[in-house]
Amino acid sequence: KLYNQVQDLKGNIRVYCRVRPFLPGQSNCVSTVSHIDDESITIFAPSMYGKEYRRAFSFNKVFGPFVTQDEVFLDTQPLIRSVLDGYNVCIFAYGQTGSGKTFTMSGPREFTEQSRGVNYRALSDLFDLSEQRRDNFSYDVSVQMIEIYNEQVRDLLVNDGLNKRLEIHSSSQRGFNVPDANLVPVASTSEVIELMNIGQKNRAVGATALNDRSSRSHSCLTVHVQGRDLTSGTVLRGCMHLVDLAGSERVDKSEVTGERLKEAQHINKSLSALGDVIAALAQKNSHVPYRNSKLTQLLQDSLGGQAKTLMFVHISPEVDAIGETISTLKFAERVA
Ligand code: ADP
Ligand code: MG
Repeated sequence: KLYNQVQDLKGNIRVYCRVRPFLPGQSNCVSTVSHIDDESITIFAPSMYGKEYRRAFSFNKVFGPFVTQDEVFLDTQPLIRSVLDGYNVCIFAYGQTGSGKTFTMSGPREFTEQSRGVNYRALSDLFDLSEQRRDNFSYDVSVQMIEIYNEQVRDLLVNDGLNKRLEIHSSSQRGFNVPDANLVPVASTSEVIELMNIGQKNRAVGATALNDRSSRSHSCLTVHVQGRDLTSGTVLRGCMHLVDLAGSERVDKSEVTGERLKEAQHINKSLSALGDVIAALAQKNSHVPYRNSKLTQLLQDSLGGQAKTLMFVHISPEVDAIGETISTLKFAERVA
């Protein structure tokens, strides 16, 4: 309740910035992040194109490199409750490849209870909360998992899903959705984990040694929740999209050709479409350009209106990432 009130005051779009730590083996590295506090981050370079660069960026929240998954989730948790209350929610991970998007959403490759990411925690909270409300509500939860690659929607929960393109439809009951994507009823976190593993495996099928598909497609885990009030019979529908976006790095157009260039153009187009939509919503523009990409079409009912949006923007601390770091922060500042 309180959270919803706070949200109403602050708007329904929140932007959190997270800085990845240096990785094992990166000793003696200098970070481009010179200062962090709760709501701001300062980037510093002694010499960029011959000049000193120093700039602070403000967000709803900034997480430094040593903030744990647990602490990150604390600030995400209130959104989960609102899904059960019938709101739509989108949680995005944005950033260049290697900046920690998948770490935030899913966790590291070999994860433990403590290193699990937002996806697992969100689902496990969802089941815990619905259990707590069982005397008053009965909930049905089902999930879909799709990827958007080169502006084509594919199902990650079926074996040959990558070969089949899916369409986005709009229906009065469910709003914008992908009716032909496998929709799997789930009753526990472990069932969801199993499905996510299948999704990851199917996604890896499309990847080759030279082509890590996961950095060049958006993956979206959608959780549909239907709650029935046991006394009044009222039905509430909410859904949550957990989106691990394609890497936001600009590729040098002079260096890439063919398939890579096409991928880069699609990613570029859809990430800027997403930025345009969120910026239009943040500025309360009357026209919101949802139709410019598959991603924004798909999420139309979960972006804007009563829906709640949380964007995690990820920063790599290395000096050679500074160009991407600044463009990531500028993108985020525009939507914050
Ligand atoms: P992305 O999905 O953006 O390409 P990853 O999530 O795969 O990036 O992160 C790149 C590497 O950095 C992985 O080895 C990951 O485990 C590690 N990493 C990312 N964020 C953190 C963090 N906050 N703490 C520790 N390790 C991290
Ligand atoms: Mg990733």
